[in-house]
Amino acid sequence: MASRFQIIESIDALSHSLQRLSRSGLRGFDCHPDSLAKLSAWGAPPQKQRETLTDIRVELGDCRRCRLAQHRRNIVFGSGSPTAKLVFVGEGPGLDEDQQAEPFVGPAGQLLTKIIGAINLSRDQVYITNIVKCRPPRNRNPRPDEIQICFPFLDRQIDVIEPIFICALGSVAAQTLLNTPEPISKLRGRFYDYRGVRLLPTYHPAYLLRNAEKKRAVWEDMKMLMKEYPYEA
Ligand code: URA
Repeated sequence: MASRFQIIESIDALSHSLQRLSRSGLRGFDCHPDSLAKLSAWGAPPQKQRETLTDIRVELGDCRRCRLAQHRRNIVFGSGSPTAKLVFVGEGPGLDEDQQAEPFVGPAGQLLTKIIGAINLSRDQVYITNIVKCRPPRNRNPRPDEIQICFPFLDRQIDVIEPIFICALGSVAAQTLLNTPEPISKLRGRFYDYRGVRLLPTYHPAYLLRNAEKKRAVWEDMKMLMKEYPYEA
């Protein structure tokens, strides 16, 4: 059997002969550049298609990989631009998000929308998702095994989007992404590296609804982000 190298050599030779015949004015051969390109693609190693967000959502399917599936109404995968430069990561869907299958649409979400507007962006320009994609019962924190099961899907979302920044909202997101038990009060206020993406932890908008005095700190964090964000002129 011919080796792959021999096949590529033969296809190359065939392609050159066809081009020579075409240049010499001979007709009756298909020497169109598209056909020649197709010919050379036969011998080339198969091109791996880049994964898309839809591929990841399809693979999640009607996910039953952890106990959160028992109580959820909808999987809340994420929303926004698949090429966002900034990804917001929360903890997990709440009641409104579970009902609407969309992240951050309840009261905390409305505050997040305002924060996004305050940095001169819209929800369509960023991407919003969560550490776990199903609502934990009674909005409890997601458990370590639930996070462990769901986290690879977030990592793949980040790989597809290739953002410049991740803003981790609250302790669950920040501690999970940074793999540390440090409290959010200690983590916020500076950038970290997360697999080549600049990660900025800040307080969760739900926490801000209960502790309005922390809004100033979040605004300081957002100003740091704005200084570095590549706004288009
Ligand atoms: N809180 C979160 O962490 N995520 C949401 O989607 C909504 C509220």
